[in-house]
Amino acid sequence: MTLKVLLINPWIYDFSAYNMWAMPLGLLKTAEYLSQYDADISFIDCLKTQKTRHYNTGKYPYRIIPTPSILKGIKRHFKAYGITEEEFITKLKENLPVDVVLITTIMSYWYLGAKRVIEIVRSVCRDIPIILGGIYPTLYNEHAMRHCSPTALCIGKSEDSLLGILESIGYKLKRVRQYQIPYYELGMYTDSQYSAVLTSNGCPFRCIYCASYLLNDVYSQRQIDDVLKDISELHRKGVTDIAFYDDALLYDADNHIKPILRYISKKDYGINLHSPNGLHCRYIDEEVAYLFKVSGFKTIRLGYETFNKQRQSDTGAKTTDNDLITAVKNLKRHGFSKTNIGVYLMYGLPNQDLKEVKDGIGFLKSLNVQIRLTEFSPIKGTKAWQMLEDEGIIDGTLDPLLTNNTVFSEMLCSYDVEEIRTIKEQVNEYNRQIN
Ligand code: SF4
Repeated sequence: MTLKVLLINPWIYDFSAYNMWAMPLGLLKTAEYLSQYDADISFIDCLKTQKTRHYNTGKYPYRIIPTPSILKGIKRHFKAYGITEEEFITKLKENLPVDVVLITTIMSYWYLGAKRVIEIVRSVCRDIPIILGGIYPTLYNEHAMRHCSPTALCIGKSEDSLLGILESIGYKLKRVRQYQIPYYELGMYTDSQYSAVLTSNGCPFRCIYCASYLLNDVYSQRQIDDVLKDISELHRKGVTDIAFYDDALLYDADNHIKPILRYISKKDYGINLHSPNGLHCRYIDEEVAYLFKVSGFKTIRLGYETFNKQRQSDTGAKTTDNDLITAVKNLKRHGFSKTNIGVYLMYGLPNQDLKEVKDGIGFLKSLNVQIRLTEFSPIKGTKAWQMLEDEGIIDGTLDPLLTNNTVFSEMLCSYDVEEIRTIKEQVNEYNRQIN
């Protein structure tokens, strides 16, 4: 019997959200994995972008919803981003009957969106098994079971556990092919002009605030030919913007990203390329910078995080000031400017004062690059989380809602909230100045 599976990407419940070529990559991988089996896959995306801006980034539609009591200290509107509940129910009914529903989660602090999807699915079709997967149940399995009440949790990668979970609820899948079908051939995102692409999984670094290794314990790179086939097919289907969402896109560049970019530049697809995740500065040599230019990169984000040398080393040693200076020099030599180059700078790290943040801002201004301020938010299972627990700032029962980056810096850091807001405004003003 063919198993009818409905995959759902739920709403984002947050104070703000903007679509930077986002796709639920874990859910797409699950769909591709299931394509080897006798399964009929359908998909509902609650996060369709309403207004498209430059390079196919865009705003989600939203509705203001009551702020959860735990977040009352934040004086901003809490919102549900995505399609309306009525649209969702209509789409759900159109996709029925199904045998099982799989719901993904991305940020743990967005769990209320998944919870609401589960409530609606239950109210429309009471007996359908619901499996909740993604980052939230992987990091917070007990919390996910208690607060969202799915039938089962898919913890970690779906290829490791999904077949067993399906068997436990009475479905034994039959393998029907020896290869996987890419998501864009499975009726998912067929009309999207952008795509998020991974050329690798995981990261060989171990930064103390990052969950990459908790989600992918081994770093691996995809076969170059498979990546190139995806890019060629996406171009053929009308995709004009591709965002690489790798955690370590440039690792072993000579044998991985360089050949990929050489091929793309030869093909002259005219696709805009973007790297929204912070790149490793130390790997941006002359040739990488040149290949970025000729292959069509438009958005380049560099991972720097802090001006404090001791903290650079203590948090994972992924970069130094000199790595950043050299990377920016190489990129500018090949025609990139402040318009393209943004550098991530964190605030709110354990024991980090605002002077350190201001020193970092001064340093980045001296390089004439965009400053992308990012709020630290603790992720369960990381060393940074443990440090905060040891210092008594948080405890193991902290609700994931309080790990929201907006919330954590305003409610749980000892910063003066007004001073942070002033710094943010000054940085935004500086970023708006062209070169
Ligand atoms: S280099 Fe980036 S992805 Fe890798 S562990 Fe550090 S923060 Fe995470």
